[in-house]
Parts: sequence; C-alpha cells; structure tokens
Amino acid sequence: METQIRRLDYDRIDEQIIEEAGSIIRKGGLVAFPTETVYGLGGDALNPESSKKIYAAKGRPSDNPLIVHIAEKKDLYRIAREVSEKAEKLMEAFWPGPLTMIFYKKELVPEATTGGLDTVAVRMPSDRIAAAFIRAAGGFVAAPSANVSGRPSTTTAAHVEEDLSGRIEMILDGGQAVIGLESTIVDMTVDPPVILRPGYVTKEKMEEQIGPLEVDKAIIAPDSGVKPKAPGMKYRHYAPRADLTIVEGPTEAVIEEISRRVEEDQKAGKKAGILATDETAGRYPEWLVLSLGQRKHEEEIAMHLFDALRQFDETDVDCIYSESFEEASIGPAIMNRLLKAAGHKVIYV
Ligand code: AMP
Ligand code: MG
Repeated sequence: METQIRRLDYDRIDEQIIEEAGSIIRKGGLVAFPTETVYGLGGDALNPESSKKIYAAKGRPSDNPLIVHIAEKKDLYRIAREVSEKAEKLMEAFWPGPLTMIFYKKELVPEATTGGLDTVAVRMPSDRIAAAFIRAAGGFVAAPSANVSGRPSTTTAAHVEEDLSGRIEMILDGGQAVIGLESTIVDMTVDPPVILRPGYVTKEKMEEQIGPLEVDKAIIAPDSGVKPKAPGMKYRHYAPRADLTIVEGPTEAVIEEISRRVEEDQKAGKKAGILATDETAGRYPEWLVLSLGQRKHEEEIAMHLFDALRQFDETDVDCIYSESFEEASIGPAIMNRLLKAAGHKVIYV
C-alpha cells in the first residue's frame, strides 16, 4: 500500500483533504493524524475490523485497548455509561485537551476496540486538525500513538512515516505536536478516580476541580509486581535501540558520573550518547550530546523527548546516558516515559 502524505496548514485547514481522510476512515482504512499530545493512528472506533487493522499496523498486543477520540462532548454519552459528576467537572475543565477518561462502555463500542474490556477510554483533543478529521470520519476515531509498538511515540509526520509508511492509507501532517507526551489517563469507574498514566494535565490541576485522586500503584512503584490497570503500561515502551540509563542526583554529580561512564565505555570500545539540557550540554565536550531544551522549561523538555530518543536511533551509539527531570508539574509525566524507555535503569549519585 502506498501511504499518501498530506500537509495541512492550521490557518487554512483544507476541507477537501479532511474529507478525503474522513472517507478513508468511514470505509475501514487507517489515517495517522496530529493531535496536541502525539500523532495518533486512527481507525473507525465502532468498526471491529478497523481496530484489528490498527493492532496489525502497529504490531500492538491485542489486549492493549485503544483510546476513542471524539470531537463533541455530547458524543461521550453515546459510548459511555455512568458519567459521574466528577467526570463532568473534569470534562468542563480539560476538554478539549490532553485528558483521557475511562468509563463503562455502551454496546456501540466493539470489544475489538477496548481490548476485550467492558470499559472505554475517551478523549476529546484540542488540536483543530484532529477535531475536523474526527468529525469527517464519523465522530468516533480509535487511535493509539502512531508508532510501531515499543518504539518512542511520534511527534512529527516524519516520525510516523518512519514507522508506518506502507502500512496505512494516509498521514495528515500538521507539523510538530506541541505537548509531545501522551494524554493523562484517569479511571472514572472508581471513586476516588485513579490516575493510570501521568501527563500534561497534572494530579494537582485535577484535584483543584474534584478533590483527591489516587495514582495507580503500578506507576508509583513499577517494580512492585502490581499489575497496572491500564494494560498498555505493562509493556516496554518508547525504547531507543541503544541501551538507555538515567543518572539522577545533584547536577554537578550527574555531569561527573556521566562523563566518567562515557570515558569508561570509550576505553571498552563502546560509543555513548548523552541526553542533556541547554544548561549542561556544553559540559560534555567531545561526545554526542542532544539537548532537550532548558531545564526550567519542562514543556520544552516534554516536546523534544521522543524526537531525541528517535535521533539516537540514527546514530551508531551503543548506550545512552540521560540526566533526570523529576521536578514540578509535568516532571512526573516526563520521568514516567523516560523510565520506561530506560527499562527502569537508574543510577543514583
Ligand atoms: P496509547 O494509545 O499508545 O496512548 O495507549 C493507550 C493507553 O490507554 C494504554 O496504556 C492503554 O492500556 C490505556 N487504555 C485504553 N483503554 C483503556 C481502558 N478501557 N482501561 C484502562 N486503560 C486503558
Ligand atoms: Mg503508545
């Protein structure tokens, strides 16, 4: 199959292209599209055959459910049962936006889309291309991140092309995804609701709206053996080809430790890369260093993370050392992705 790539401009969204993309979905095909979080690999959420195609194109295990994307709040009630008052408050505060909520599903949603579960994950993206495309596609688009399973999520159309060219009908190119990390996921079938995946919408921001939330124990203590409630969280994710290790501690000690290790690796005939920040990048002179941006701008770090992990794949490094980013607000979301990419290998200095 030849994958068509269509560039779209946010100032003048070409309706003909949107209609073309929507019609592919309505006929059971697949289209990757931009959202504010990462690129999504879309298919008709109400058509089990489309969902099966999504799993096949990504190489995704079929027990890992898909998020259903909608473009109108009222459409939630067509696919979800028992929408609580708290869910409505979160919806008012954060939709459209990077928040996914889990509800009991209605019959209309096939189990092929929900990985056999009786619950459905729903999100209403704020990206305007995404919203227009979802409407044109019939209103319910199932979309996981548009990457081959296990690889870093895609934040540009070029990333999507790398992973999925030849496997899907079309890619809508809307440029760089502005958030760069997947949505926050909250399970609304329980009270208090439970955060299953941290994201741009933080626990604190949601608690301002609805009071206390819990965090899935599998996120807090990944080695505890607790089975995560979001099935996807148990799989290895985001992994670059080279072996990634996080070094955590006071900045000076981290620079020293990473430098020492890179030199040691060099002596052993191994080539190392470093994931750093604007403030520290110049401190690792001769080596391959990628900066994620300014440490004090977490948004910048988040936006560049997946791209940087993919860039290392184009080099011949055998191992990568990353600085650590656990700080305010979206720090936990950044660290959640980085820890998974590293298979939880952390050196504390
Ligand atoms: P992705 O589409 O790559 O962003 O991954 C979607 C994430 O949402 C995965 O971690 C899924 O396991 C999770 N998810 C989707 N639907 C449900 C659901 N009904 N219950 C719990 N987790 C879900
Ligand atoms: Mg994913």
